[in-house]
Amino acid sequence: MAARFVRRVVSNGAPLARFYSSEVRKVTLIPGDGIGPEISAAVQKIFAAAKVPIEWEAVDVTPVRGPDGRFGIPQAAIESVNKNKVGLKGPLMTPVGKGHRSLNLALRKEFNLYANVRPCRSLEGYETLYDNVDVVTIRENTEGEYSGIEHEIVDGVVQSIKLITEEASRRVAEFAFTYTKENGRHKVTAVHKANIMRMSDGLFLHCCREAAEKHPDVKFEEKYLDTVCLNMVQDPTQYDVLVMPNLYGDILSDMCAGLVGGLGLTPSGNIGLNGALFESVHGTAPDIAGQDKANPTALLLSGVMMLRYMNLNDYAERIQQACFATIKESKYRTGDLGGSAKCSEFTDEICRKV
Ligand code: NAD
Repeated sequence: MAARFVRRVVSNGAPLARFYSSEVRKVTLIPGDGIGPEISAAVQKIFAAAKVPIEWEAVDVTPVRGPDGRFGIPQAAIESVNKNKVGLKGPLMTPVGKGHRSLNLALRKEFNLYANVRPCRSLEGYETLYDNVDVVTIRENTEGEYSGIEHEIVDGVVQSIKLITEEASRRVAEFAFTYTKENGRHKVTAVHKANIMRMSDGLFLHCCREAAEKHPDVKFEEKYLDTVCLNMVQDPTQYDVLVMPNLYGDILSDMCAGLVGGLGLTPSGNIGLNGALFESVHGTAPDIAGQDKANPTALLLSGVMMLRYMNLNDYAERIQQACFATIKESKYRTGDLGGSAKCSEFTDEICRKV
């Protein structure tokens, strides 16, 4: 039987990728550092148990020195992502203050992964301050304070440039509205500090307003970042989809993660025009690395987002249900969720349920 042709339309209205849903597709896997290899192995085991029709292509992203003497992503890893267009990535360690630049930033820039999508939902049966959090932060992923443009002006004085462009702001704003509609959501909140950063955040906000005019069927509001932080801990239900510049999104999404049970639970997708990389929001957790203590849920749910992106919705749903059902049974919870189960025990239970 001919493979079913699936055409996917994203953010800017352009077709992103064409997938044949009955084919086995290759997916790039970047296991990462710290707990990365353990949680990546857990995801691979669960995907195998669910018989997901994908083949992993593991790549090493340890920085290599290029002809210009600078460290960068190895060519083989770049080629793998360019070829497969879809990848799952474990956390990568970033040296502080010295050494090579953040590989996470380099990957986002290399593949122009301009929208970072971070859904945050309360889990049934796992008690937190609120049981009804359901927000998605959409973070501009390529510029802002994370442009990496820093220099010393004179001894003891450094300058970091916050770069905001109309092009990047427009495309992430447009992405937010399209995402809202495609996912049956109803409201977009633009988060900014245009009262202080009049030009940079002002431009970002202007682009959000323009996108809002093109999507009159989606409710739109503008809020200061500090107000959103206050409201988020007082009543998170007032928000739905939030779109914002890079740094704000990095911070606010961790706050949202805290509301639903912490970093061990929150997935994300880095979406670009020609592909996407899915990764957990958390870092390498060096304090528990190699001890079979990590919670693999965030990376697993990132894998679930990836499956939905690939139109493998049935597999995504089955794995998600098995994961949520396992968390609900407190017996299998890992340390970060107040339990004592090992990463491997939690993983095996999901495999039994999937
Ligand atoms: P972290 O997220 O690694 O850890 C913060 C705390 O959360 C730690 O106590 C850790 O044990 C816990 N934690 C995180 N993930 C967990 C999981 N899956 N299960 C159980 N507990 C978990 O943050 P950090 O310590 O600030 O950063 C460590 C390194 O990770 C740094 O080098 C940082 O740059 C890097 N990092 C990478 C990414 C990424 O690759 N996307 C994101 C954030 C941080």
